[in-house]
Amino acid sequence: MITLRPYQEEAINSIFKYWQKTANRGNPVVVMPVGSGKSPTMAGFIKRCYDKFGTRMSKVLVITHVKELIEQDYEAIVDFWPGAPLGVYSASLNKKQTDNRIVCCGVQSIAKPETYKKFGKVNCLVIDECHLVPAKEETTYRRLIAGLKEINPKLKVVGFTGTPFRLDCGWITENGIFDDIVYNMCTVETFDWLIRNNYMCDAIPRRPEFQIDVSNVKIRGGEYVEKELQAAVDTDAVTRQALNETIQLAKDRKHWLIFCTGVEHAKHVVEYLCKAGVNSTVISGDLDMTTRKERIDGFKSGRYRAVANVNVLSTGFNYPDIDCLVMLRPTQSVSLYIQACGRGIRYSPNKENCLILDFAGNVARLGCINDPLQPKKKSGKKRDDGEGTAPVKVCPKCNCYAPASAKFCPACNYEFPTETKLTAHASLDEIIKRKQKQETEKTVEVTHVKYAKIQTKNGVQVLVEYRSGIQTVAKDWINIESEKSFFATAAKEWIRIRSRDGYIPKNTQELLVMCLSGKMREPKAITVKTSGGYNRIVSYDFDGSTISGNATGHSRA
Ligand SMILES: [Zn+2]
Repeated sequence: MITLRPYQEEAINSIFKYWQKTANRGNPVVVMPVGSGKSPTMAGFIKRCYDKFGTRMSKVLVITHVKELIEQDYEAIVDFWPGAPLGVYSASLNKKQTDNRIVCCGVQSIAKPETYKKFGKVNCLVIDECHLVPAKEETTYRRLIAGLKEINPKLKVVGFTGTPFRLDCGWITENGIFDDIVYNMCTVETFDWLIRNNYMCDAIPRRPEFQIDVSNVKIRGGEYVEKELQAAVDTDAVTRQALNETIQLAKDRKHWLIFCTGVEHAKHVVEYLCKAGVNSTVISGDLDMTTRKERIDGFKSGRYRAVANVNVLSTGFNYPDIDCLVMLRPTQSVSLYIQACGRGIRYSPNKENCLILDFAGNVARLGCINDPLQPKKKSGKKRDDGEGTAPVKVCPKCNCYAPASAKFCPACNYEFPTETKLTAHASLDEIIKRKQKQETEKTVEVTHVKYAKIQTKNGVQVLVEYRSGIQTVAKDWINIESEKSFFATAAKEWIRIRSRDGYIPKNTQELLVMCLSGKMREPKAITVKTSGGYNRIVSYDFDGSTISGNATGHSRA
């Protein structure tokens, strides 16, 4: 039995709140980063449905598209709710149970009317990886949903996903069955929060010297044409150059996961690595269960240092210790890219971060994992490849990617020069010549504190700027009205420490007035730690009493 994390509880609450607001109409989506515990949240949601609706909730189907995910969802429900009335219907798992009140199903296995009719009246359909539900109606998923709705017009559909975009690059709430995103943990702010609180680990995307050339590979339907892609990627020269560099760059990494373009490519990669003395193996969808298990166990025990993986989506690869991803599979698909990165950012006490060796140009093309390129709201006009629309730049010192707005390299703390507009193709020489500064921690006198009410993507907040002379040393964002309780709690804690009379304001406006009218204590000095692209406030010094900076949550340079 496991307990849910606070944000997982909130995600569940947001679904019920949504239905309350819409009088039980509408199909909501919960967006949580791959690696943040989506399956347990789903399990918690289902349990809550049964607790709330009792016998009126006679049937819930949990649907996904591959057997690994069916297994994963099944296990998550059992872990969270031992003794749940749970069954499995999946041809590839050789199980065809229809009588249980909750059934984990493969979408292909139950797609035919004669099959899904066996389940009778279904109350709720929970779809895992719901970005795969197409916008088009004449598809397996959409026909199944329509068929179940015929049996029960009040059928509810709830989607869970790690990305709000479909494979063909449309928003999930655009032209489909899903109406609203009711909870989204995939913003830059929440992503960073998850990492800081050890719910997920940091990714270090690095641009190796060698880059796979896909300039001649055609794009169709939002993705590279597979055959042409394989021809461009699966060559001796590419394999040799990419893997030689991998062996160098990943020498202190224990578990490498390599993304390939096809089974043959994966075999060639493994062949090369084994010859070079790196014990490795292929894991692909066509393996029988015994072999697959043997290889996964071997990877986990360290017998295989590297695994070459064929289809990112075909694996429910939940191994938190993976500390290096090697991308040999160029993609145009944001969701595929995010799924791949997600394999490395699960939290594990055994690693500090996950190195992403991107030979495929995916980061430059699609952006950083916490802030990926967003498809245009109105689909139709295609993105131009190579336009450099992704907001990233490359650190000239360590070749890691950083968000275009970062002041410091997340990997090595190199300070990006502010005057130069940087792109991935900027002249590196010029930048290297500039002064490099590696700073960790310093205490600065605060001469003045500035307050302002600002509107951000995350709602209205009070922006607090700590000044030393004319320089802004660090900032706090106080989001007391946030719907996310961890931000609101952090905001209240921030106020509690400062409020002279102990009063906690009810909203942002009231808070601003308190700040401006001198009702809040102000620090005489702050200690700022520079790490990655962030200036984190380690502590505030209020006339001798030092308060840790953790309470405020987020401070950015
Ligand atoms: Zn760097």
